[in-house]
Amino acid sequence: MDQELRDERNRRWDEPFGKEPLDPDTVAAILALPAFADVKSEDFPDWLPLERVIANDGRIRTFQKGETILRKGDYGSSLFIILSGSVFGLTAPAPVHAGGRRRRKSWSRSLAQLFARKRPPEYRPARNRTRGAAPTMPATDAERAVAVDKAMRVDADDLMARCETFQLEAPQMFGELAALTRSPRRATIYALENETVLFELRWQGLREIRDWSDSFRSQIDQLYHERGLLTRLQECPVFAHVDSAALAEIAEEALFETYGNFNWTHRFKREISKEDGPQHIIQQEPVICEQGSHVDGLLLINSGFARISERVDHGDRTIGHLSRNDVFGLQAIAAYASSNVSQVLDTSLRAIGYVDVIRIPTHLVRKHVLPGLDRAFLEQGHTAGKDGPQGELRQGMMDFLVDHRYINGEQAMLINLDRCVGCDDCVRACATAHGNNPRFVRQGSRFENAMIASACMHCTDPVCLIGCPTGAIHRAEDSGTVVIDDNTCIGCATCANSCPYNNIRMVEIRDQHGFFVKDKDGQPISRATKCDLCADQLTGPACVQACPHDALERVNMRDTETLLEWLK
Ligand code: SF4
Ligand code: SF4
Repeated sequence: MDQELRDERNRRWDEPFGKEPLDPDTVAAILALPAFADVKSEDFPDWLPLERVIANDGRIRTFQKGETILRKGDYGSSLFIILSGSVFGLTAPAPVHAGGRRRRKSWSRSLAQLFARKRPPEYRPARNRTRGAAPTMPATDAERAVAVDKAMRVDADDLMARCETFQLEAPQMFGELAALTRSPRRATIYALENETVLFELRWQGLREIRDWSDSFRSQIDQLYHERGLLTRLQECPVFAHVDSAALAEIAEEALFETYGNFNWTHRFKREISKEDGPQHIIQQEPVICEQGSHVDGLLLINSGFARISERVDHGDRTIGHLSRNDVFGLQAIAAYASSNVSQVLDTSLRAIGYVDVIRIPTHLVRKHVLPGLDRAFLEQGHTAGKDGPQGELRQGMMDFLVDHRYINGEQAMLINLDRCVGCDDCVRACATAHGNNPRFVRQGSRFENAMIASACMHCTDPVCLIGCPTGAIHRAEDSGTVVIDDNTCIGCATCANSCPYNNIRMVEIRDQHGFFVKDKDGQPISRATKCDLCADQLTGPACVQACPHDALERVNMRDTETLLEWLK
């Protein structure tokens, strides 16, 4: 039995992106493309040869005219380079396709699992490699997406005649922005010709080439500035009334700025473990704009989070937080425009972790944004800290959520401690849904009568993804849920160490008899495990369904009003 199990440890190069790694001729052809012209093999370390990254993390895909290559709103995890043929893009939402993409369990399978014979905890079936054999693993999200969309090819000519589109042809690149920023695709892309051939590079290969090649990095950054900016402005509500020519003028003069550290986890964990209150956390956050300084442009949050605070007696008080698409400084610019006297900011803005902002010059905001702007944008205020018991509760909750960075959570597990009786039905339901392996612990930080349980929150900024060497932990393309692919997890624990909330556990896996699976050196094999929101369950998260007291909910932690209402 041991002999049979000795090949179970996954490794970096085990699972190529395609069915097979690309052959050396194809790799040479890819590296001859303009995108890689200045990328030098000698810049890469011996353990990470450039050719092997391309061979392993790249694949060749062929599309027929009208087939969907990627869809707006799906989470991106790869870039594409056109090798032959051409594609066209649609920035409006793609036509709705019938049918879902996610494979959920049928009712009969869901029912059957309740009565299934119990498996040993953290049992994993024998590994089933895809390489050199017909694939027997479940299809990746991308493969499933293509299968669905292939049956519903769009009429490319008709779509181009009716909609605003853009075209790309060989050897242009697309998809790199969403892949790098762990964000949704910003356009739907279709093949414009039959036999359009693309090179697709998955996220971890893209990231490694960007890390080791300065020229590739500056090329990607330039593309981001050229293409990403206009699209970003178009999707931001505050610019909805601004026409394309004015937006292009704004994009021309806008500046990209970043504050904080992309990989903010470790410092955060150190700071939050100190017990001297929120003040020291605020003070160590990089200042983007200081209260009392003159307004210097409109700031649009591109990614990450920022804290709005105001000075009080001996420190600062949090009065709100901003995230993607929010703006800062609009009221001060409007006051400047109506009085013609330069205004000072009455609050400060600080980076929570890492923030990517776009600064738009004041004169362009006055010229293009203020005329015709919906007054609601100017009247938005922050209500934290207002008088009365509800105001105090709101202020306390705001401090708690921002200081612990729970505002990152889109599907946090919130337990109302006034209703919870500790029966653990939620934990048992989770175990039943995951082959006897519960994916969370009913413990966590508390605020008033609320507990944030130690379960993956499926964050807006999933920092856990940053270092995974194989891309095993990733966002499901259609739902955005953060999931781990058991077939490619090599058990390095990078994700577990990176999760700021300690919501990933490393478990030693077992065979069907309950014995620990060991590698050829006799060392136990670990894999990362966490909540997957019961991605394959028909009824959604089993924990929520199971609670007989309505004490458990999955919530977006930025929805303060719902949180306050639910905790009443
Ligand atoms: S594992 Fe941690 S960082 Fe990653 S999505 Fe879940 S809670 Fe967020
Ligand atoms: S342990 Fe985490 S970081 Fe390491 S390979 Fe597995 S999923 Fe990726």
